[in-house]
Amino acid sequence: MRRALVPLGVLLIAGLPSMAQTRSSRTLDIYVIDVEGGNATLIVAPSRESLLIDTGNAGAAAPRDAGRIIEAIQAASLQHIDHLITTHWHGDHFGGMAELAAKVPIREFIDHGPNVQPGELADAFLQKTYPQLYAKAKHTVVKPGDQISISGVDVRVVTSAGETIKTAIPGAGMPNPYCANFKPGDNNAEDPQSVGTYITFGRFRTAHLGDLTKNKEFELMCPNNRLGAVDVLLGLHHGVSSSNSEVLVHALHPRVAIMNNGTRKGGEPDVMKTVHSSPGLEDLWQLHFSLLSGQEYTVPGMFIANTIDDQPPAMPIAPMAAPQPGPGVPPAPVHNGKAYWIKVSAQPDGSFTVTNARNGFSKSYEARP
Ligand SMILES: [Zn+2]
Ligand SMILES: [Zn+2]
Repeated sequence: MRRALVPLGVLLIAGLPSMAQTRSSRTLDIYVIDVEGGNATLIVAPSRESLLIDTGNAGAAAPRDAGRIIEAIQAASLQHIDHLITTHWHGDHFGGMAELAAKVPIREFIDHGPNVQPGELADAFLQKTYPQLYAKAKHTVVKPGDQISISGVDVRVVTSAGETIKTAIPGAGMPNPYCANFKPGDNNAEDPQSVGTYITFGRFRTAHLGDLTKNKEFELMCPNNRLGAVDVLLGLHHGVSSSNSEVLVHALHPRVAIMNNGTRKGGEPDVMKTVHSSPGLEDLWQLHFSLLSGQEYTVPGMFIANTIDDQPPAMPIAPMAAPQPGPGVPPAPVHNGKAYWIKVSAQPDGSFTVTNARNGFSKSYEARP
């Protein structure tokens, strides 16, 4: 109904390519796409060169998640993806790749190398499907320190295959005061292998570390903080507590964090306390409300991009404990309907705007002095 009220003239102007080019030629645009507690983050440079980090969930969810990524690709007026990083070989990160590659040409496939956590899904994919996808493209296994070529943007690999950069990003490398209180964490085998990237666009800085876990956060950030600070911290491993130590989150001093959590994945109280107490944090944005947060720990709804298919009138105030995995666990609240991204548009002076595509709520962050 609302669409019919938009005057025709507005639609015509919005459709003019010259306007679109002017608008997009100045900013680095980042679309944090809702793939239900997986990851898919699309980064588009002013040159229109693109980097997609991960492709959402596998199985029945793959067409849905690939479709949501396509929507962002279309919104960015891209004809292809220049670089695809698969951070690691978990089904919530590579799951929609084949479906996506069938619809959009992908020119380079980037990963950390072989899967180290044997599993039927990943092993079959790597043996049969993946080589076919990159056969007519470029396949690159990256190591820390490598750069991904995008004109006007510095994209640096800072972690891969369990290794971290040994020298600091220029301007970083100060002692990290949070190292003294670090507590080691538990993790599976693949998460610590994640390809992590640090991205600089003029004075704007952001990082996406895949599902890098606490012990690797420590190796990367201690005793010296090799990354320095970021304006926007992307992903946060869905907001789960096997990642997101203070040595990382607090030391990076993000102004904004954008969490790729699910309806019952991530956002548990420990992580929310760490993020909300991070010095200099202005806002946390989330792809979903999480039952593991409850209203007690989550952010106001205007900072949350997605609801669920059967939206209850009110969300519970108290966080629920994560159910033990296994048979008989009730499914998490489902969201297969229309999904919305959180979009960051950054200027070379370091200022940036974050927009919630669901409600149009937008907030601008001035350049740091
Ligand atoms: Zn969702
Ligand atoms: Zn994950």
